[in-house]
Amino acid sequence: MRDIYERAWNVVIWLGQGWDNFHLVMRYLEQMGQNQSFHIHPAINPSLQLDGRDITAPEIQKGLKMFFGSSWWTRVWTVQEYLLSRRSVFQCGRYLLDRNVARQGVQSYFHHLERCCSALRSDCPNHNDIFKSLIVMENVEYIRLLLQDVSLPYIFSQFRNTRDATDMRDKIFGMLGLARGQYQNIIRPNYLLSTEQNFELATVEIMKNTRPLEILSHIPVAGERNLSLPSYVPDWTVSAKDDYYYTDWLNWVGHLHLYNACKDEVADLEIIEPGVLALKGSVIEEIDLVGSVPGSVSYGAFLEELISLAAICKDANRDPIVVDWAPKTAFWSVICGTMENYLDSDRDNRPFYRRILPLSSFERFDKWISWYPSNSAIGMDAEVLSTHRPFIVVSAGRKFAVTKKGRLAWCPVKSNPGDVIAILAGGSVPFVLRIGDNGRYTVVGDAYIQGIMDGEILTDDLEFIELI
Ligand SMILES: [Zn+2]
Repeated sequence: MRDIYERAWNVVIWLGQGWDNFHLVMRYLEQMGQNQSFHIHPAINPSLQLDGRDITAPEIQKGLKMFFGSSWWTRVWTVQEYLLSRRSVFQCGRYLLDRNVARQGVQSYFHHLERCCSALRSDCPNHNDIFKSLIVMENVEYIRLLLQDVSLPYIFSQFRNTRDATDMRDKIFGMLGLARGQYQNIIRPNYLLSTEQNFELATVEIMKNTRPLEILSHIPVAGERNLSLPSYVPDWTVSAKDDYYYTDWLNWVGHLHLYNACKDEVADLEIIEPGVLALKGSVIEEIDLVGSVPGSVSYGAFLEELISLAAICKDANRDPIVVDWAPKTAFWSVICGTMENYLDSDRDNRPFYRRILPLSSFERFDKWISWYPSNSAIGMDAEVLSTHRPFIVVSAGRKFAVTKKGRLAWCPVKSNPGDVIAILAGGSVPFVLRIGDNGRYTVVGDAYIQGIMDGEILTDDLEFIELI
């Protein structure tokens, strides 16, 4: 399949005969691609209009839904043919739309949404539907851009929410043509084995052959499962219902390389039996207190809770964690996963990098949150964005927590007090584990834990930890 599509000179993507006024949306996308300086928000001049219609017009909204709602966009097997071909063009009825122009249009929408036109989220009726439509193309184009860089598990995650397969094994088999570097030829499709067996085999093979444990970070932090699998095997059939959350979570797994909790140690594993895997590592901590799930309380109340949990850390009963930064800066750094949203045109869609921001940036963020009226992003400037974006990304699907030793943490929503924190060889981030039968552990998910993300406390005496 890979060879066929790589040799194709042009791929015509047939989206069907069209619907009423389908040419409107194709022209709108074309305009969006050709006039990227035009604002998408109709109240900001100059704004993008087509025959007097803007993004709020029902015909445009319906058209976007129909265009990106075509089954071509939701099938697993079309991803490879699209990404591997050199040139492609969408065809609807007799209307042709070049892929590059459509791509530029979609890119322009996200560029404006993240910056000047962020108020679309609150001002534009049905905005969530528009976002859902356009993110379909953004997801696939993002992989084109990073194909040489991203891991195979990342590609699986990128499409598991949006691409369907009749046979669930194809959720991974349908992506194998995109494997690059050390991920090539590790997984061999085997339709004689069940979906569960294939997923387990793929997880172990990826760990064995590549040696980082990134794949464990692809276990959805919200803990959803459709299949009966060992806890260390991601369920690639699970899709998140909330697209905003899913994109934020994907951003987290796309930036794991910023951390180095295991100090470059490579994964060391032993297969005990099917369903039991031993990984070298060290259990270092225990969760003591957990806060609310983000989104379950108001923004203000959520932040209040973070501050009060952090204050508990300063109790005389606890060993305060010694960090080099002032306490206030330390608190805010944890809130943002010690990441900064640094926008640089050369870095395109991979904006984050590690840096401890000055306290004044956090204070701006604090002020912004304190008058934050609703879910709208009005008034957000670049400085607020530099802290707000990482906060959203590190907290997606996570609860704020305090450990027994007084560390502040972001842990998967399913974490409970008593769960332990482990650093595993090959894991750039720590993992929350739960003790189960026979001293074996289940994996709850990965985490951000204050003061251990750069290998500060990794010792030499690692032992095998058995996971089920
Ligand atoms: Zn704009």
